[in-house]
Amino acid sequence: MKKALLLFLLLPAIAYSQHQSKLTRIDSVLTYLHQYHMFNGTVLIGEKGKVLYKKAFGIAHPQTQQPLTTASAFNLASVSKQFYTMMAMILKEQGKLAYDDTVQKYLPAFPYNNITIRQLMNQTSGLPEYFDIAQGDMNPLDTLTNASMLELLALKNPALVFEPGTQWQYCNTNYTTLASIIEKVSGLTSQQFFAKHIAAPLKLKNSFVYHLKLKSYPPARVFGLEYDGVNYKLNDLVRFDGIVGDGNVYASAEDLYLWDQALYTKKLVKKTTFNEALTAGKLNNGKHTEYGFGWFIREPGKIVSHTGGWVGFGTEITRYIDKNQTIIVLDNSSNFRAHALVKNIWEGKPIALPKTHLITNVKVIDGTGLPAVAGGVRILNNRIWHVGKLTPFAGEAVTDGNGNVLAPGFIDNHSHHDGGLEKNPSAVAVTSQGITTIVVGQDGGSDTMDSIEHALKKIPVSVNVASYTGQASLREKVMGKNLLRKATPVEIDSMKVLLAREMEKGSLGLSTGLEYEAAFYSSRDEVVALAKVAAEKNGRYISHIRSEDLNIEEAIDEIIQIGHEAKIPVQVTHIKIAMRSKWGNSEKILRQLEMARQQGVNITADIYPYTMWNSTPRVLFPKKDFENLASAEFATRELFDPAASVMVRYTPQPAWQGKTVSEIAAINKETSAQALLRIIRESAAPEQGATIVAKSMSETDISNFMKWPYTSICSDGTMRGHPRGHGSFTRVLGKYVREEKLMSLETAIQKMTSLAAENVGIKNRGLIVPGYFADLVLFNPETVIDNATIENPTALSTGIEYVWVNGKLVYQNQKAVENYPGVLLKR
Ligand SMILES: [Zn+2]
Repeated sequence: MKKALLLFLLLPAIAYSQHQSKLTRIDSVLTYLHQYHMFNGTVLIGEKGKVLYKKAFGIAHPQTQQPLTTASAFNLASVSKQFYTMMAMILKEQGKLAYDDTVQKYLPAFPYNNITIRQLMNQTSGLPEYFDIAQGDMNPLDTLTNASMLELLALKNPALVFEPGTQWQYCNTNYTTLASIIEKVSGLTSQQFFAKHIAAPLKLKNSFVYHLKLKSYPPARVFGLEYDGVNYKLNDLVRFDGIVGDGNVYASAEDLYLWDQALYTKKLVKKTTFNEALTAGKLNNGKHTEYGFGWFIREPGKIVSHTGGWVGFGTEITRYIDKNQTIIVLDNSSNFRAHALVKNIWEGKPIALPKTHLITNVKVIDGTGLPAVAGGVRILNNRIWHVGKLTPFAGEAVTDGNGNVLAPGFIDNHSHHDGGLEKNPSAVAVTSQGITTIVVGQDGGSDTMDSIEHALKKIPVSVNVASYTGQASLREKVMGKNLLRKATPVEIDSMKVLLAREMEKGSLGLSTGLEYEAAFYSSRDEVVALAKVAAEKNGRYISHIRSEDLNIEEAIDEIIQIGHEAKIPVQVTHIKIAMRSKWGNSEKILRQLEMARQQGVNITADIYPYTMWNSTPRVLFPKKDFENLASAEFATRELFDPAASVMVRYTPQPAWQGKTVSEIAAINKETSAQALLRIIRESAAPEQGATIVAKSMSETDISNFMKWPYTSICSDGTMRGHPRGHGSFTRVLGKYVREEKLMSLETAIQKMTSLAAENVGIKNRGLIVPGYFADLVLFNPETVIDNATIENPTALSTGIEYVWVNGKLVYQNQKAVENYPGVLLKR
C-alpha cells in the first residue's frame, strides 16, 4: 500500500522532470543555433493552456536592432492558411457560403466551372501555382494583388494540373482564391475580417493581416532577415506580397497560443465545424489525403500541424491534440533549422546539430570567371553558407587556407574512373587533381542508374557521380551480340523505352561512341530518335564523334545535325584532331562550331590536355579494315607516332606492355605498320585485349580548342593507364595556365566548374555561392602541377592541399581522408 502510494506520488514529478529535461535541451539547442546565426525568433511550448517554455532570441529589424519578444508579430507565411479556412467556416456558419459551392458562384470571372470551395481548402482543385503564372506576366514594378491575380487567371486561362478532386497537390492559388471569395462574400477586406471575427473575440494583441498595398503596419511587425556572414540584412516581402490568403497573416507566439487554445472551444465556430477542418480531405476515388482545411493531418485525431516558409520567415505550429500540447516556432532568420530540432527533442527523437566550418585566409575564385577575392567561405553541413570577409564564431572549426586559392570542386565532364571505384572508394586519382564530381557513362557505354545507385550504397565513395546513358549499352540490351548493323525500327522503339526509364531515374542524357564498332554501324536516324527521348526530359547529348581523324569534318557536321534535329544540347567530348595532315585545322573546326551556335544549336565541347589519347588500337583503322596493310601504313604515317605511342595493356604478350609500337616492330624485325597489324590480330580474340596510349595530336590544336569559351575540361581518365587519369586538371592549371599563360586562372577554373556543370546539366554545384553544395578545392597556384607520366601514370599531382566533397574533407596533403560523402547526382 505504501509502495503504491509512493509510486502514485512520484508519477507527476517524473512527467514534470521528463518535460523539464526536454525543455532544458531545447533551450540549449536554441541558444546554440542563435549564437551561430541559425535561429532568430521566438518559441512557445504549452500544455493544456499552461505555457511550459517561452523565449525570444534576437532582433526584429537589422537597422533598429529592436529586440524580439514573444509578443512580436511574425509573418506566418503558410501557417496563415488555417486562419483563412477559419474565416470560411465562420461564413459557412453565417449561412453565407457552402463548401460545395463552386468558386464561379462567387467569382464569375474565375475561368474554371468545376472547382469547389472545399477543393480549394483541401488542396485538391488542380489549379496551377500562381507564382508560375504571374512570374512571366508581371511588370517588375507591379505588386501582385488578389484582384490582379484573378484577372491574370481569367486572361491566361492556364490548363489545370489535374481534374479537380482526383489528386492532392499543395498549391497557393487555392488559398488566394479562397481569400477572394471571403472578401466578396463578407464585403470586408481580409484585414478587416480578421480583425473583427478572429483577433477581437480572441483578444489577440499582435495579430493582423498585412500586405504591401497597405500603407502602414503595427509596431509589433517583425521583418525577415538573412545573415550574410558579417551582418543581418533584410530578406523581406517581395512584389508578390500584395496578395493574401496563402500567407501574410502576422501573429506573435503568445497570440498563436491563444488561437491554439481557442480551437479547443467554440469561441469562433462550433466544435463540429472545426472538427471537419482537422479531418483529412477525400478524393473522388474515396481515398483520404493527409490534409484538412489548412492543416496537415500527421496522425488523425492526434497530431496536426502546418509549416510556413516565405522570404526570411520560417514558421511552424504543431498541435498534439490528444494531449493538448502545442509547439510554436517562429523564425525570421531565413533558416529552417530550429523547427525540426525542437519538435524532435519534444517527441523524444534523436537529433543532429548542424555543424559549421570556416575556411579562412583564401583567395576565392568562385567559378564564374570573375577575379579572385580574398576572404573566406563558411560551410554549414553539406552546403556553402557564407562567402566573404568572415570571422569565426566562438568555438567554430577553422581551416587556415594560407593565402591559397579556394575554388569550386572540379567537375570532370568525361570520366572512366567509375571502373575502379569499388576497389578504390577514396578515388585518390580523382581527388588528388581537385575533382569532386565525375561524369561517367561515356562513349556509349553505361551502367543503369539503379545499378550505380546500388553500388554507391553498397560501397560509398569520396566523389560525386553523375552518368549519361550509353547508346551502345542500349543496343547491347536490345540487339544482342551482333552490333555491326543498323537497328530495326522495333529495336529502336525498345531502346527508346529503356532510355526514357533511365532519364526518369536521373540520367544526364544520351552518350554515344560512334567511332567504336558497337555504334559505328548505327544510323543517324537511330541516334536522333534516341536523342529526342533525352531532349523531351531536358537531357543532353554527349558524343565521342564518328571520326576524330579522317572524316572529322563530317563527324562534326553529324553532331550538329543531331542537335538540330533532336533539339538537344550537344557536346563534342574530348575534342581533338588525331591526324597529322589535319593538324592546324582547329580554327576551321571552331568556326564550324560557332556557325552552328549562331544557327541555334547549343553545341559545346570538352577536352583533356594531352597530345596522346588512350584506347583500343582498332580506332587506328577508320575504315574498320583491320587486315589491310595499306590502312596500317596510313595509320603509322597519319594517325599516330609509332615511336612515341606505347602499348599500356597487351594481354597476348604481357612483356610488350610499356613498349612503343616501334620497339615491338624492332623485336619482330618488321615495319611499324606490320607490327600494328600483328597487335590487332593477336589481341582480337575475345579473352585478349590491347590498349594503346597513342601520340596523335598537336599542341596548337589543343590550345585552340581549350581556349574556346564553350570548352570545359575533362580527363577521359581511369584509375591507371594514361596519365590523364591522375593529372588532367592539375596539368591545365600548371602547364597551360601558369607556364604557358594560355588563359587566366579564373577562366580555367570556370571551365572546370560552372561551365562543366552547365555543359552536362548538373545543378547547384560548380560555383562558390551561398546555398550551393560545398564541393571545394584548395590549391597553391604557384606550385600546382601534374606528375603522372606514361612510365608512372599514378604519380600524384603537386599543389592540391585540401579537397571537400559535400562539406566533408576527402583529401589532404597527398593523402585520402577516410570520408565517403559522394552522392549520385541526378539531372
Ligand atoms: Zn571517348
